Amino acid sequence: MTKTLITLWMDYALRWDSPYDNGEIQPVVTVFLTQPAYARIHVHAASDLDNEVGGILVGQWCLDNGTESQFLVIENVLPARYTRQSSVHLTFTQDSIVHYHGIIEQRFAGKQIVGWYHTHPRMGIFLSQYDTWLHNHFFPEPWQVALVVEPHSSAAGFFVRQTNGLLDPSCYFGFYEMNGHVGHSTVRWQNLTRSGEESDK
Ligand SMILES: [Zn+2]
Repeated sequence: MTKTLITLWMDYALRWDSPYDNGEIQPVVTVFLTQPAYARIHVHAASDLDNEVGGILVGQWCLDNGTESQFLVIENVLPARYTRQSSVHLTFTQDSIVHYHGIIEQRFAGKQIVGWYHTHPRMGIFLSQYDTWLHNHFFPEPWQVALVVEPHSSAAGFFVRQTNGLLDPSCYFGFYEMNGHVGHSTVRWQNLTRSGEESDK
């Protein structure tokens, strides 16, 4: 059997599952996260333990022709700058999105905004009503995702729309860690478990 693109990628990745993976809700895209992008998110999230920080996820949306499955590869991040940060929430504006598109054209030609990330210091992994509004307003493509990170307990999860377009604000998913094929994981998010391994955290 010929391997399709997405299964080839999976061979070179480590799977991290959330408690909601393999449940009733099926995400419309599978998320792949490179180790350099993870490292940048991890460092940014830990840089301010009192206020929300966040930014843009940069990468590629892909369609596997063999299986019709959609996947994202997150390769870079752009920390938010043109936003007002507060301990309550992070925000984007139409101007900041235009600014990010400009940076991506210059620095990451051919790449796309595949979603956004932000932290929830001392809160859980969920999307607030405001987060959901922000996601639908600025990241309306069905395959764009939102990553929430809690830096104190070191937890995280991806919010991904379902095939019917709905987004469950309390149901998050895991991802495939790229470059992990030699077994060296760099992921430290405690609420996720390596697929196929018992949770002993
Ligand atoms: Zn939030």
